[in-house]
Amino acid sequence: SKVNGRQQITFFDPSMTRNLVRRREIESELRLALQRDELSIFFQPLIDLETGRIRSFEALVRWFHPEKGELRPDEFIPVAEETGAIITLGNWITAQAAKAAAQWPEDVTIAVNLSPLQIKAPGAAMAILSALREARLDPSRLELEITETVLLDHSQNTETFINELAEAGVRFALDDFGTGYSSLGYLNKYPFSKIKVDRSFISGINQGKKSDAIIRAVSGMGQTLGMEIVAEGLETIEQVRAVSEAGCTLGQGYYFSRPVPDYLAAMLLAKEREK
Ligand code: C2E
Ligand code: CA
Ligand code: CA
Ligand code: CA
Repeated sequence: SKVNGRQQITFFDPSMTRNLVRRREIESELRLALQRDELSIFFQPLIDLETGRIRSFEALVRWFHPEKGELRPDEFIPVAEETGAIITLGNWITAQAAKAAAQWPEDVTIAVNLSPLQIKAPGAAMAILSALREARLDPSRLELEITETVLLDHSQNTETFINELAEAGVRFALDDFGTGYSSLGYLNKYPFSKIKVDRSFISGINQGKKSDAIIRAVSGMGQTLGMEIVAEGLETIEQVRAVSEAGCTLGQGYYFSRPVPDYLAAMLLAKEREK
């Protein structure tokens, strides 16, 4: 039948076999990557669009593989989620990020991405609080970035996780806003302090009026609700101008800085503060 024919073609597609092999390799080598010290955290600044100063850094994990070169999180985070390695990996990332942030001026915060699985793991909130204690970082300087997918299943664990950490002073940002359901209900239910407007909207800016109008509307809503609006993926001065004008309060993207290693993040802060 047609269906069988298609399955056969898919089965013998050499590129698919290559992908599978690579995935299996990533799966087995990820276990060792931490011990071998192949992972590191990079930091990308979030810039106050009014003052031009760094207000925060987002922690972004990198894997420098001895043979495969630099691996992007989009490739190995999903694998880590499948195998459950994300729990150990996620805790390591939070601990590293908190340690780095503890070296920065007190008004600079650190944002860490959380995978849905991490949040559901037993003891997840405890792990984060103990990482903060160990690094001697005040909970109010940590911001956890979560996407809507985390909130979709309405699990009690998720609610407990968020409430427990929010009570301790940890902040939350809604990441990739505009790519999912963009439900306003979540904004009402959970204590988000930031909304991060997805890069896809930013690249659509100036190309038609719609993206601009949407960003303007989200910014207006943020202002009313006392939330900051972050524009992600800013690459050009035109985009920076457009999102500032639309009411975004923070900007992030290659226009300001690519994600950088911890010593460069510290240097950016030192340079800014000597002025
Ligand atoms: P994200 O949270 O939306 O992170 C923003 C991504 O956009 C980062 O990619 C960043 O390097 C990239 N980016 C920043 N500015 C620009 C720009 O101006 N132009 C373009 N084209 N890209 C820009 P990255 O580091 O490859 O991370 C991809 C995704 O992987 C992240 O998306 C996040 O969902 C996930 N991720 C990264 N680090 C972690 C982590 O430590 N834990 C977890 N659970 N997920 C992570
Ligand atoms: Ca993020
Ligand atoms: Ca994002
Ligand atoms: Ca993303």
